Order: sequence, then structure tokens, then C-alpha cells
Amino acid sequence: MQVVFLGGASGVGASCLAIELAGQWFVVDAGVRVDKKADPLPDLALLEGKDVRAIFVTHAHADHIGALPLVHQAFPTAPIYASRATGLLMEVMLSDALKIMNKRAMEEMELPLYPEGLVAGMLNHVRPLTIGEGLTFPELPGVTVQASRAGHIAGAVSLGFSASDGSLVVSGDISITPQRTVQGALAPPITRPDLLILESTYGTRLHPNRQAEELRLAQAVAEGIDRGGHTLIPCFALGRGQELLLLLQAAQDKGQIPEFPIYVDGLVRRVCSTYLLLPEALSPTLQRQIRKGYTPFTGRTVTFVRDERERERILAGPPACIISSSGMLTGGPSAWYATRLAPQEDASILITGYQDEESPGRRLLDLAEQKKNTLDIGGQTVQVLCHVAKYNLSAHADGGELAAYATALQPKRVALVHGDEEARAALRTRLEGMDVILPGDGMTVEKHGKRASSASRARATTDSAHAVDTLPTGIGGGIPFDSMHVEELWRAVATIPTLRIVTGRELALTWYGEATEEDTQRVMEILDEDYEQRYFVRQHALAEAYRVRGQSEETPGDFISDLVGHILLMAISPGSAKPVLCRAIEPGAAVRVQFPRGISYERTRFPFSAILDVIGPGPQDNYETGSASPIALFLADLVRDARRIRRTLSAHDLARECREEASYTLSEMCMLAGASPQSLEDRLAVAKLMHKHPHIFMQKRPFLEGEGLVLYGLAPSWEEALSEPEEAERPDQHWILSVIEQYLGNPPDLYRRSVDPETGDVTLSFHFPAVASAKYASALDAAAEETGVSITIAPHTHQGILTEVARSLLPAGLTVKGKPSIYVDQQLVQLNCAGEATTEEIQQAQAQFMEQTGWYLGVEREQPDKPRSTYWSASAGSAGRKEQNEAISIARKALAGESGLYKVGADGGTGTLLLRFYFPDAVQGRIEQQLKTVEEKTGWGVRIYPSVHQEELAATARRLLPEGLSIDGSPSLHHDRHAVDVTCSGQASQEELEEAERRFNEVTGWSLNFKVRI
Ligand SMILES: [Zn+2]
Ligand SMILES: [Zn+2]
Repeated sequence: MQVVFLGGASGVGASCLAIELAGQWFVVDAGVRVDKKADPLPDLALLEGKDVRAIFVTHAHADHIGALPLVHQAFPTAPIYASRATGLLMEVMLSDALKIMNKRAMEEMELPLYPEGLVAGMLNHVRPLTIGEGLTFPELPGVTVQASRAGHIAGAVSLGFSASDGSLVVSGDISITPQRTVQGALAPPITRPDLLILESTYGTRLHPNRQAEELRLAQAVAEGIDRGGHTLIPCFALGRGQELLLLLQAAQDKGQIPEFPIYVDGLVRRVCSTYLLLPEALSPTLQRQIRKGYTPFTGRTVTFVRDERERERILAGPPACIISSSGMLTGGPSAWYATRLAPQEDASILITGYQDEESPGRRLLDLAEQKKNTLDIGGQTVQVLCHVAKYNLSAHADGGELAAYATALQPKRVALVHGDEEARAALRTRLEGMDVILPGDGMTVEKHGKRASSASRARATTDSAHAVDTLPTGIGGGIPFDSMHVEELWRAVATIPTLRIVTGRELALTWYGEATEEDTQRVMEILDEDYEQRYFVRQHALAEAYRVRGQSEETPGDFISDLVGHILLMAISPGSAKPVLCRAIEPGAAVRVQFPRGISYERTRFPFSAILDVIGPGPQDNYETGSASPIALFLADLVRDARRIRRTLSAHDLARECREEASYTLSEMCMLAGASPQSLEDRLAVAKLMHKHPHIFMQKRPFLEGEGLVLYGLAPSWEEALSEPEEAERPDQHWILSVIEQYLGNPPDLYRRSVDPETGDVTLSFHFPAVASAKYASALDAAAEETGVSITIAPHTHQGILTEVARSLLPAGLTVKGKPSIYVDQQLVQLNCAGEATTEEIQQAQAQFMEQTGWYLGVEREQPDKPRSTYWSASAGSAGRKEQNEAISIARKALAGESGLYKVGADGGTGTLLLRFYFPDAVQGRIEQQLKTVEEKTGWGVRIYPSVHQEELAATARRLLPEGLSIDGSPSLHHDRHAVDVTCSGQASQEELEEAERRFNEVTGWSLNFKVRI
């Protein structure tokens, strides 16, 4: 047995071991150094000539995986074993870097650039390593491997290796104290290993009480914000960022610190999402929360920063806490924030983790102590005036814990690595009585001599070990992957019972044997075509990851977190189901949803039990921007399109396609209905059709029971229901009106809304239809478009409001006498008034009236000196009053010679006869004598109705028109000045025109004005 320390022995960074056991070589970890001055890579030249059979990875930090692509390049067939969580986190950390391939991303990742394709090829060789059992590998006969939980970060393991010629434990980075995200370390179950390779990052130190330190940090953040400045906490994306988020939120929840906004930036965000896919690697509390569908990293005060513009806005906004990678301010958004916050006196930068000797983070700390005040960061020199402090929230064991770990294992020899000289020396003094070595980088340690006792113990372990489960590869036999192969692929993958999450790459590898980028893409595209995701459920948190359905590890409710970003059919009230976008999972078994535009409900939170089905994926882009309104519009379009499709579907026809006892998914129902299972609107239409016919269809397996996969079938009463004639789809009146309200609001002039229950067509009654149809035209068009029904405005004017408006607009000097007259045909309100007003005042009132109501306002003035339009006898007495009909008859006879009398009415109450002439103005003066006679003969008072008969007036104008002219449009009547304007075309002499005007005035008492267009 021998161990070569390729890197990471005498310091933190570029951890890499080559180990020879049972005559075969393997590598444990291959990381990079962040320290820019040192060589970033381990001494890979020492691997030359060695036949490396396999590679093991303890965890996904850059100082342990950064050089893996290069080791893979040297040994392209060697499988890379890592825990499932580490495998997925490596995919996130490395493939993200590969995709983005720019300077900023690389700095943030703290990784060197690799030749293109190398990372992908390497990730193809990652194989899952089960934690907690002895494993053997085909590549390493005679060697048993035990992986145990290392604490530190999600997925981190310690590795124990045993064979006949020796045994050793590689601690990796360990944390004994439980953290918020992960439980504490357990050493691999190997007693008295020949060698323990132990990390010693904090060998000099004893950590302060974790809880007290967390509270101290939370309070420092709160104080910084209280001072009015922003607080930046630079942190490692993987591990520390998640811890910080949880501890700050917990302190806010407990009321230990006030609530303030927390922004999360850099790679931290993506790692948070990935953690949600790895509940098995997290603390029991988080595991429970995630399996129930909560997203513990994104509480109500937390915002994930999306782009650089948002960064500027955050700094310009109110004081907030910013959690961002990189942890040592070597790059990434944290360096950007630091250059801006460092010169601000009220800002704070709080350091919480390991800082390399040469990193800007370490220099910032030094500077805070020595009171110097400039710092080189991100290529700039900045003044440092902000508050700087350090908090110890280590994810590494301290000196005491490390010593206890070593003591428990009772190794024959301990090699201290992953720590500076001081740390290793300090830890060595704690390991009294042990054989401790401090290897240098490049050094080889060999086991001296063989002892039979250790060999037999190792063999005992080997006997109980079993072969590692690996994904089968190349099951497709060269055939391109297609939708009909999905089930076969699932069967192959599901043979590994612990495999809960797989990546698109792994699936491609399983099918094709060697996965290219296109193959992976093809597999993912085909999986996405199945909206029900019967076999693989795409994970919202990480686009390339899928949950394998039906795995033993799957717990009820696990599928709930997949709902975010999907369109659900939600029962929002009895009998009413709407499509909504699932925005978040919330405590109390609830989802927060977004409604379609046009539907306003106060509730946006609904219990899981209200979910009827999953319609399909929501719009990706819109969801990512987080802005509500594009989604609301998207959903409104979906509703409208689905309604259109539903009208073409028949529940009876669909029922006839179903077999009596069979169960169908929504996709299958779509196909039976002749609709597309991949179109959201078709799916919604079919889902709603079934929901609306509960006597015909039922859910055989509802959403929660079916773990998100709903099965439909015929209801027991289906035959009976089919014997009734199929009712046409009834429109949803409430919804239609709410859409109209969305566009129109609640205008005060809208006084009635009626919906045709059969067609859904709407009639709206406004006080003034003419005005309303101009004013609301575009809003009503839009509402009609959205609802798919016709919306018309009732043609009738509200006469009560009309006269009210007329009265209110009347010039102050005038008072109305009697009731206003309303002439519907002419759109005219005629007021009889007493008092004085200028022509301008009256014209202004008329213009306003027209504007508000679309009607003309006629103002008649009583002028005592010239009683032009009314005749009112003061002598009318009641003594000798004739009977009403007789009085009318007398009046008719007396006035028989006068043209234009078309109606005689009587008001018995006041004893007045009302005479209606076509042209009251014309007869007024002429018949005064006859009127007196009528009064005397009848004993009734007599009144001439003041308004002109407008049709007759217009007809007279037409009749008198000179021959060569024709009227364009209709004559316009001006009641204020008793004039008719006529626009004509054609030719007429001046004499002819004047003659016509004269005749018109004679007959009607009104004046006629020609406008002749030539
Ligand atoms: Zn680490
Ligand atoms: Zn490390």
C-alpha cells in the first residue's frame, strides 16, 4: 500500500491523492488552488506511468474537483465514483462553467478553463457511490470501499479503503458539529486503519459555540442595516451560502432580528436550487420540508438576483443584506459589490469563512485591523471605509474535534493534510501518542511491513461488501432514442433503487453508451414531450435533472415541489375550475398561484387538495422574470383558446370512445377526444370538459393519490347521463363579467349588465350609449376578444339622468319652468326657462351637454315682451268649464282653418288645453284671436305646445329646396336660434335660394340657411 500526495497536503487547495492498494492505483479528489500566486493544479505529472483504474471524489468544492477534467483526460476510461449529491453538484459547478465560458463565470467558479468537451466527457464517467455500505468495484478487485457521511456540505463523504495489503481512511473535509443543512460526520467503519489521512484546516483552533456565533452574525447584519447601509456577506457558493440563508431567515422568523430584504447572488442561487433535489443528503429537518414541497432557501424576505441591472437597483435601494459568491472576493458578484460598498462608511462586509493568504478577503481583514485604507480588488484600488468583521461559521471540524475523530479510529498512523504549517503543527500536538506525519506535496508514504492481523480484518470487511450499482450503458443498441423507448429507459434506470435524481446526460449515456451533447439534448426533448412525465419528472430547480418516478425512496408529497412553474387546473370554488400558474409551494400544504388576467380572486393560496390536474409546463421566460402580468396574459390567452376548442368537443362522443373499466391519463383522453396531448389549450379544454361532466367522467386516481399523475375514467352513472341530450356548454357569466370589469373598471355611467345565459353575450346599459360607445370602444373590443362573446351597448338613453344633466348644465341665470321635453328621434332635450343668460353661456351649456350625453340641448326662453313660443291665458277660469271632450271638439272646430294643428290634448288637473302645431312659431301671433274665442267658449285655458315638429320641419326644408339642389345628409336643427341648416350640392340661383328661405320662414317661423357645395 502506498499513497502519493499530489497536492493539498501542506495547504488548502488542489487536494489530490494517488493510492495504490491490492496492486492497483486509484485517485482520490483532484482539486485546484485559488491562490493566484501558486500553481493552481496538483502535481499530475506524478501520475505518469501509473495505471489509474478509478477515481473517487469526496465532495464538490473546487479544491477537490477543479482538476478532475484533467485527470479524466489522462485516464479517460476510469470511472469517477461520487455520492449522488456530489455527482449532481459537480454537474452544476462544472457544466455551468463550461456553458458560460467567460471570465466572470470562471472567476466566480474559481476554476481554470478546460478544453471544450472535456468536462462533458468527464461527467459521462461519474458513477454513483452509495453511502454507508461496503462496496466492491469491478475496476478494483480485492478492494472494499466504505463511504460515510462527512458533514461539511451536502454529499460530502469520507472514504475508507481496505484490502489484504492494508487499509486507510481519507477524511476529506469534515464537520463534526451538525450544521443547518447537513448532519455531522461519521467516520468510515474501519477499525485501526493503517493510515488516516486527516484534514487539518482549523487544527489550531477551537470553534466558538455555533449557535452563539450564528446569532452574533445575524445581529451584526441587522446592526449594519440599522446604520442605514448595505451588508455584504461574501461566501462560497456551495455550502456556506445555504447555511447563511437559513440562519438569517431563522433569526428573522424567531424575531431575534428585524425583517429586512436578503438578496442572493452568484452561483449560490443555482446551488440552492440543486440542494432541493438532494433531500437525502441534507439534515432531517430540511429533508422533511423539501419532501413536503417547501423551498426552505427562498422565504418571503429572500430574493434571487437575476441580472446586473438588478444589482445596481439593490445598491440604490433601501439597506439590505447581500449574500454572494465568491467567498474570498476573488471574483464573482461579491467582488463587484465589495468594490462599491467598501468606500461607504455605513456599509458592512462580513467575512464568514476561510480566506486564502493572498485573497482580497484576507487582505480586507488585515486592513481592518491595521487601519490601512485601500484595497486592490477586481482590478481596482478602492478606499475602505466600511465596517469589516469576521465571524466563524466553519464547515470544518476544529482542533479538538479532529483529534477526537482520529482517536476514535485508532489509526496506526496519521497524515495531516489540508492545512497550513501552523494548523498541522497544532493538531499534531493534540494527537499525543500517535504516529503523526506531515507530508509535503509530492511526497509518497508507504506502509512499512505487512501484519497478518490487519489483512485478516480487511478481508472480513470484503466478505460483507457487495458490488457497486452502476447505471447500465448503451441499452439502446445504436437506435436513436424515441418516445416509444421512454419506458424501456425508465426500466433500466429504475433497477438502481437508490437512484432518485438522474441527469439528462446520464439518461443519454444509459441509452447511447457514449453521450454527445446532441444525444443528451434529444433525450431531454423527447422526455419533455410527455406532459404527464409518467417516467421521468423534469425538475424545475435544475433543468437537466429528472426525478425517476416510482423509486422506493420516493415519499408521498415528494412530487409536490415539481409543480412550481407548471400550469395547474385548480378548483377555486365549488364547480369552478381555472388554469393557474403554480408560483410557489408554501407552508401548510398550500400552493401560491397566479390567475389568468381577467380573474381577480383575493386568494392566491390554495390547499394541495384543490389541485385537479397538471395541464403542462408554464412559460419558461416569463416565469424567470418573475413579473406577473405576462403570465396573466398568457393564461388569459390559454383560457380563451381552450374555450374555443371546448365548444368543438362533445363529452358524449368522448365517453363513447372510453372503455368501461379503463383508466386514462389526460394525454390519453386528449387523444381519444381528437385533441393534441402536447398542446396546453387542448389539454385544458379536455380537462375542463371532463370536470364539467361529473356524471360522465370521474377521476379514478386523484392528483394527490396519484403522486401528480391523475387517471380518469367513466363515472358509474355514465350510461344514464348519455341517455340525456347533451347540453351545450353554458358560459361562465361570473367570469365574463369579471373580464369586462378588468378592462372597463366600474364606470359610474354603467348601470346595468346582462349576460345571455345561453350564449354568454353581454348587453351593457350606459346612461348615454352614444358617448359610451365612443369612450369604451377599445376596452370593450379587448374584453370581447378575451371572453369570446359579443358585447353590445343597449341603445336607450337613461332619461332621468339625461334631464338631470341638462338641468345641472343650465347657466346660472336661468331657471327651468315645467318638465323638460325629450325628443328621442332628434336626440334633443328641450328646456323651458325663465331668466337671463347670454348666448355664449347657452352655447357653452349646449356644447357640454353634447359632450357628456351625445344629445342636443334646446333652451326656450320666456320673453315677456315677445311671447314667441307659448301662449298662456290668465283669464282661464273654472266656473263654466265645459266637459273635456267637448272642449277639445270646440277647439278643433275653432282652429280648423289653421294649418298644422295635429293634436289637441287636455290637462284636466289645471283645466288647460294643449295645442300641438307642427310649427308653433308660425301660428303664434296669427291665431291669438281664435285662442281667446276657444277660452271663452270652453272655460279652459289654452296653451300652445312650444316645440316644433322636427320631422315636419325637415320635410318642409326638403320640399322647399330649389330644383337644382339635393340635400347631403340630414338637415341640422338649431333649437337655440330656431334655424335649420341644410348642406346641399348642385346648383341654384341666389333668387331661388332666397325665395326658399322666405317661404320656409313663412310656413314654419324658423329660418333656413343653405350651404351649397359646388
Ligand atoms: Zn470543502
Ligand atoms: Zn477542501
